[in-house]
Amino acid sequence: MGATAIVTRFAPSPTGHLHLGHVHAAAMAHRLARQAGGHFLLRIEDIDPTRCRPEFTAAIQDDLAWLGLDWDGPVRVQSEHLAEYRTVLDTLSARGLLYPCFCTRADIAREIAASASAPHGPDGPLYPGTCRRLPADQRAARIAGGEAHALRLDMQAALAALAAPLTFDEAGQGRLRCDPARFGDTVLARKDVPASYHLCVTHDDAAQGVSLVTRGEDLKPATDLHRLMQTLLGWPEPRYAHHALLTDAQGRRLAKRDRAATIRDLRAAGVSAAEVLRRAVP
Ligand code: GLU
Repeated sequence: MGATAIVTRFAPSPTGHLHLGHVHAAAMAHRLARQAGGHFLLRIEDIDPTRCRPEFTAAIQDDLAWLGLDWDGPVRVQSEHLAEYRTVLDTLSARGLLYPCFCTRADIAREIAASASAPHGPDGPLYPGTCRRLPADQRAARIAGGEAHALRLDMQAALAALAAPLTFDEAGQGRLRCDPARFGDTVLARKDVPASYHLCVTHDDAAQGVSLVTRGEDLKPATDLHRLMQTLLGWPEPRYAHHALLTDAQGRRLAKRDRAATIRDLRAAGVSAAEVLRRAVP
């Protein structure tokens, strides 16, 4: 692979069997890498133990292999890298960019209901900042008392640490301006899982040398936050190519509930790999 050859990845969460929408994404990442003589990586985003299951991780690999979507190198399994995510959190914490949040969902809902405005971001209502205002001694006492807490990014402090406005390079669209403030004080480590999607995806893309991030356009807004993480942490900037989501004949987005579209079922029904790829990449 040359120094400029691209590295792409397919990064499913093993919460169910692959459907045609996943194959659409995987086939795009695979094609772009293979056309350029680059690398195509497989990453399993399984940090949520309540939603992810090892049998789906195995089934994903089996379906991809059956489709001929071969990946390079070992599969990266996020749940095996929690210590690395911890190190990133420690770095941000030492720079005063994180704070512990003890709020329950009910606390947050109550606070939002009581406030005059309830701004929404791409991940839902913005956190009202309750725990950002906690005095340091109260924070320390509650942590010492073993109270469960998430870790939130202090968005204003993070934005203040930037030297220049953030942008990203989107295929066919040139450089787009980022507005990460829309996410507010986003959770980087959950109460139940010491990490989060936004933390792990940016860490791993950097750790794996991913140079072209391909994924569905539903995740395009998240790129604003991902560029912030990459910039705060001095990670390289990948290029992005967000693709339209595959829809069914009625124009509805394919989802895991559409059992008819799982690759398992298509295989069991005797549909060939070539035909599955044809349906996934019309
Ligand atoms: N794991 C994410 C998903 O299954 C995709 C992450 C990404 O491509 O950035 O939706």
